[in-house]
Amino acid sequence: MNIGLFFGSFNPIHVGHLIIANVMVENGTLDQVWFVVSPQNPFKSQQSLAHEFDRLDMVRAAIHDNFKFQATDVEFGMPKPSYTADTLAVLSDKYPQHHFSLIMGEDNLVSFPKWKNYQAIVDFYGLKVYPRPEAQKSELIEHPNVQMVDAPLLDISATFIRDNLRNSRSIKYLVPDAVIDIIESRKLYR
Ligand code: ATP
Repeated sequence: MNIGLFFGSFNPIHVGHLIIANVMVENGTLDQVWFVVSPQNPFKSQQSLAHEFDRLDMVRAAIHDNFKFQATDVEFGMPKPSYTADTLAVLSDKYPQHHFSLIMGEDNLVSFPKWKNYQAIVDFYGLKVYPRPEAQKSELIEHPNVQMVDAPLLDISATFIRDNLRNSRSIKYLVPDAVIDIIESRKLYR
């Protein structure tokens, strides 16, 4: 199968992530999207990062009704911080029958040349990129293995969700109801 790997902190998962994954799987050649929950991002601060098990549970709750979406905790047992290059090697080894590519937002494409082994990742796996408001233009969009999808800009981020929660503002429709239930019952992002 053709699998799109969507790496993220998902802190928490929001409708932006779901729309991106859906566009990738319905308008392209992918059979499935796997959400790879990163315990720790080498470039992000750890402040207000919910526990990885809570983030995984929220992803699972958000995608449970879509048989083309899966969540994976493959990085939880790996050395931290997790490098995408290492995770790709582990997954390719474990699932030789699958063909993997990467899904990311345009902001990540800009920082991509700082990633470990980024050139090999582009050459070998290829990237599918969703446009993001205010992302700088990356020279990588000229690369034959980098595909920019034509889809509506989504001005939403997990940071915005967390800000809303801290300020007691509603996050309804910004994240699925099942995710709101987890956030409320576990008192996350207070
Ligand atoms: P935060 O606000 O905490 O930095 P985030 O909303 O960017 O989080 P991540 O979990 O860090 O969410 O992102 C996972 C992936 O989803 C990244 O590739 C990111 O570029 C992409 N992404 C998230 N939101 C959007 C969006 N609104 N438009 C395009 N890409 C997005």
